[in-house]
Amino acid sequence: MTASLIGVVYEQKTGYLSQCEKNLEKILEGSPTMSLEDLEEIVMQKKFEEGRLLLEIALSRHPDRDATKVQKCLSCGRILRIQKDAQPKTVRSQFGEIEYKRPYGVCDRCGQTGAPMDWALGIGNAKVSVGVTQKVCHAAVIGRSFGDGAEILAEHSRLEYSAKHVRTIAEGEGQKLVKERETAVERFRQLKTPSVVSGPAPMLFVVTCDGGRVQTRAETQDSRWKEDKIGVVYDAVPQPKPEADSYDRYEGARSQTKTYVATMEPWESFGWMLRVEAEKRGYLQAKAKLLIADGAQHIRTLKNDHFPEAEMILDWPHATEHLSASSKAAFGEGTQAAREWYEEYRELLWKGKRDEIIRELERLSKKIGFPEKGESDASGRAMLYRNAYSYFPNNYDAIDYPRFRSKGWPIGSGVAEGAVKQFALRMKGTEKFWNVSESGAEEMLALCALYHSEDDRWKCYWKARAKPYDVPA
Ligand SMILES: [Zn+2]
Repeated sequence: MTASLIGVVYEQKTGYLSQCEKNLEKILEGSPTMSLEDLEEIVMQKKFEEGRLLLEIALSRHPDRDATKVQKCLSCGRILRIQKDAQPKTVRSQFGEIEYKRPYGVCDRCGQTGAPMDWALGIGNAKVSVGVTQKVCHAAVIGRSFGDGAEILAEHSRLEYSAKHVRTIAEGEGQKLVKERETAVERFRQLKTPSVVSGPAPMLFVVTCDGGRVQTRAETQDSRWKEDKIGVVYDAVPQPKPEADSYDRYEGARSQTKTYVATMEPWESFGWMLRVEAEKRGYLQAKAKLLIADGAQHIRTLKNDHFPEAEMILDWPHATEHLSASSKAAFGEGTQAAREWYEEYRELLWKGKRDEIIRELERLSKKIGFPEKGESDASGRAMLYRNAYSYFPNNYDAIDYPRFRSKGWPIGSGVAEGAVKQFALRMKGTEKFWNVSESGAEEMLALCALYHSEDDRWKCYWKARAKPYDVPA
């Protein structure tokens, strides 16, 4: 250690210790008359000041502050030419704003510029520490709005951020997640290699999804509502109960770890994202694979294109809703006949009498007449016709409920609908309008999916995010 460095270290040490001593005296002096709350407040404040000092001391001792040290380029590994020996940088840390000085250079081969010390610290060009970014993102996700997030940060972490700044940071991080997801999808599309999954193969693997609505900034009222798609994948333990006599008495499989995919992208892109997520979780290795959803055509397409290996199960509440709507179309809303018919056929559906149900729907559709050319899709005749000739026949395999019960499989997509509601709590908070094309909704959905996933990926993500940058050897 050189004499001057010994001098600096000594100065820092005594500076820090004398600050601590002052803090201690201040507390001892005031404590006899202070309430516990006042004490907590002052200790917290002093701890904050001491923390900032400690951080600054630690940074001032970092080996990469040495401008004579040979440093490599982050992109190509060539030797970096140092342009400035001690360029100052300010970072917002968990202890307030801190400043440090470090060498800054350029790579003459590839043009990369930057400070090796920032790379070694894992902060790069960011002006906010990863620890703070994580807190801001957490507050942005759990609050109902960015304003809520700002309040949570001020109240719980002494971090003063405006709602707008919270939004910028959270959306910036969401953008990273969106990019990572795009890369993973692209790799999967090109290589078609199933990802390596550690751990035992799940007994049962369930994929389920549903759509919600998000209000955007679009010009016209019609185009303002855009659909967000939420997918959930989970492993489960089958709970066979063939004798269950109603939906309320049938639990199906118990879901274990749930993870999420959420996007504003079209169903086709969503299908790829969901498949990549399922692959990561061990979909291919699972002994039984299911896709549970409503029977809409876009879901059928998603199943055929992205989950051909899975058995499709039509969500029971959706199926019965289609029966109920058919009964109203055939017998009139609120009539005794409609109610009786519905109850009878719901029972038959439960018992798996699929042919009987389809024949009856065809009979009723003929009785009230087929829809005429140009008739509204929403008319009773159009609806009954669809149920008789496409919805139930197309979902024939997906409504074999007695078989599903004997296997102990779930028959409801409540998990997906629950997720849509959970995400909507955030997406329909006080920020009612989202920029779908530029930034906003997509980024927040990605951040919410990361946070709500139950496999610890939130923690793992931040751990990886905070690591020193890899500089080529
Ligand atoms: Zn380079």
